[in-house]
Amino acid sequence: MVKTTSMLPIRDCVFQTPGYTPGEQPQTNDYIKLNTNENPYPPPPEIFQDIQAELSKVRLYPDPVSTQLRQAAAKIFNVSSEQILAGNGSDDILNIALRTFVNPGETVAFLDLTYSLYETLTRVHGANLVTFPTNEHFQLDRPLICPEAKLIFLASPNPPVGQHLRRESLEETCEKATGIVLIDEAYVDFSPYNHLDFLTKYENVIISRTMSKSYSLAGMRVGFGIASRAIIEQMDKVRDSYNLDRIAQALATAALNSHPYFEQIWEKVCQTRERLMVSLKDLDFLGFDSDSNFVLASPQWISAADLYHQLKERKILVRYFNHPRITNYVRISIGTDEEIDRLLEAIKKIKYGG
Ligand code: PMP
Repeated sequence: MVKTTSMLPIRDCVFQTPGYTPGEQPQTNDYIKLNTNENPYPPPPEIFQDIQAELSKVRLYPDPVSTQLRQAAAKIFNVSSEQILAGNGSDDILNIALRTFVNPGETVAFLDLTYSLYETLTRVHGANLVTFPTNEHFQLDRPLICPEAKLIFLASPNPPVGQHLRRESLEETCEKATGIVLIDEAYVDFSPYNHLDFLTKYENVIISRTMSKSYSLAGMRVGFGIASRAIIEQMDKVRDSYNLDRIAQALATAALNSHPYFEQIWEKVCQTRERLMVSLKDLDFLGFDSDSNFVLASPQWISAADLYHQLKERKILVRYFNHPRITNYVRISIGTDEEIDRLLEAIKKIKYGG
């Protein structure tokens, strides 16, 4: 007999969760891809130098604890390598934190408008979620107080607006929290504000970082959790035993060791972002200042959905939002200067014809 879904022993919380929808990832190269906040610049060629040696070892399991990668990361983050957990992307770190600190039925808190994966992970885990309102500028203008929360996810900069959260509110959140506060710094290298110093002040803080955006390695899936040794020791038990493959470990280590190259790129991306924002305002968009590698802007003369479709016809991919609190917005990842010129050209044609 063929079993129907309803007869399978699926956990209610899994069955009832719609699941996370990642951004469009076309498998052809004919798009200008400005939709999922990847870095438009490739990593430097020298990071591929030792890959052949790694490929010749694919028969063997990789280092289960990503030793060299964690050592390279420790130098950048100015902590000990025992304070670092390497993850298969920073999504892996978020998931591990949830499974380490929250029992099903307990509470996880995050902002009403933020990275939507927090909700999916929480629901699939069978935990309760509490969302905390941001103010009219999508800012956290007071601490997130939720005494029952075992884990609080806060992204700074926070998508989809892309601004860092106010430091005083974050500090007070960490002081008052009875559980863990995970500050997701996926976009922090494009921002002047990070919170690594919180690690010396608060025992309950985890900072997560990714190599997907600032280090041009989205395809390799590498992220980090940075926290006290006590926290990392527990999270380490929860991760998959070989959660990073050997190619990812080697490329990510080499990329971290090429840090100065990436710093120049971050500078470039920030300059392009400022130029894009000025041009969008000239083209009658309302937008937010961003300290990420994307901007959120609302066209005042066309629906965001129409703009998205018309850009897609012209082989330019952006993302559009119709969230109740951000109706009619497109989110545009920062591309190369040439890509952004082509985007602006396309928007002008859509607006003025031609
Ligand atoms: N955190 C935030 C706030 C993000 O926007 C993203 C990207 N979707 C991630 C984490 C996940 O990044 P990674 O590629 O490291 O899993």
